[in-house]
Amino acid sequence: MLRKPFDWKELPVGGQLSSTSARFYPSKLFARTRRRKGTEVLIETFIRKQLRLKAHTVTKVEETEEFMVVYIDRLGRRLLRCGVCRQRCQEVHDLRREREWRDLSMRKLPLRLCYRPRRVECPRCGVRVEDFPWAEPWARVTTALANAVATLARELSWQGTARQYGLNWKSVATIVKRAVEYGLRHRARPPVHAIGIDEVSRRKGQVYLTVVYDLERRVLLWVGEDRTEEAVKKFFTEEMGRRRCRTLQVVCMDMWAAYAKLVREHAPHAQILFDRFHIVKHLNEAVEEVRRSEMRRLSAREKVPFKRSRWLLLKNPWNLTSDQKERLSTLVRWNTPIVRAYYLKESFQLFWEYRRPSRAQQHLQKWMNSAMRSRLDPFKKFVRMLRSHLDGILPWTKLRLSNGAVEGMNNKIKSVSHRSFGFRSAKNFIAAIYHCCARLPLPVER
Ligand SMILES: [Zn+2]
Repeated sequence: MLRKPFDWKELPVGGQLSSTSARFYPSKLFARTRRRKGTEVLIETFIRKQLRLKAHTVTKVEETEEFMVVYIDRLGRRLLRCGVCRQRCQEVHDLRREREWRDLSMRKLPLRLCYRPRRVECPRCGVRVEDFPWAEPWARVTTALANAVATLARELSWQGTARQYGLNWKSVATIVKRAVEYGLRHRARPPVHAIGIDEVSRRKGQVYLTVVYDLERRVLLWVGEDRTEEAVKKFFTEEMGRRRCRTLQVVCMDMWAAYAKLVREHAPHAQILFDRFHIVKHLNEAVEEVRRSEMRRLSAREKVPFKRSRWLLLKNPWNLTSDQKERLSTLVRWNTPIVRAYYLKESFQLFWEYRRPSRAQQHLQKWMNSAMRSRLDPFKKFVRMLRSHLDGILPWTKLRLSNGAVEGMNNKIKSVSHRSFGFRSAKNFIAAIYHCCARLPLPVER
């Protein structure tokens, strides 16, 4: 289209030429002639801006059936950075073979970046591969895609995440493990005052892991590969170190000699508190043992009222339905070992309610005496356990702290282990636990 010559006759009557109308006409024409070319450049510019390229540029974008291929090249003679220290380097040493990176999709088509990396001569590090602004040095996917995958992997199984992004399971595993490594290196480490040590089982109780929580911030601090003294020691020596151990005030845990020994050794001033939920668990086990041995002893006809009584006895009484209450009261009318066990269990629970330490201690002493006279061996065993751990049980009244604060986290770990049949190794399972529960930061997109 030709540019229309400026015609003075078209001037508005009165000869007033407003500046807007005079400029408007020719520029509109220029815009029209440039527009076709403009759209072609646009996608390259768009991708260049999205990747925040400064020393690189997008030379070409090609569309295939499966991918959108983005070709990247160095921009003029702009300085490249060292891949190790990220310092700008004057000299380029050589050109490497073309490499590819997967990126997030543009609508349906996944992006694939192609670039021939340079090796630069870094004054500090020597000859090194340059730094890529779009990806970590080792990665075969861009940081943006890696972060999107890692975020989804917190909610879904690794298999499900892989399906969502058209990757394979192994790539997702690598991305998550790298993200966890990064997160552990870069996470904030404020002083810790109260921790809870717990264990989780993998493969239906065959393999145990030790987990340590920060009870104040309700966040996972550490996962260990076993529950032995040797394995848990690493938490105090490697994760905490001597300086950070000093701020520890309360350590909440199960009555497990290995843990107590470690705490006394590495954080001697910290108060050991045996976890309420673990104590109740041991108590319930005693009740269950009494019930089971009685069931073995009773004849088939005598068994009838006790059938399916396990939950009646273990449940809190206020949670029972009226029908269940009825059945419980029939049971109670018989003075059997099962009933004695039930009463003992219920009266023990009062201990948690006391506000005054002296009263709480009094209650516990009385209870232990009556339990010893109950002629129930599992309870005698339980009392012996309590007696040898009293210094870690009585502080409950003052501290009122338990691993119950992180109960949700424990359930989350269980769901992580359930949803992934694919954790072939403890390493992967540990990475997944850290990834879901430790609130680790993800790599920053530059
Ligand atoms: Zn360097």
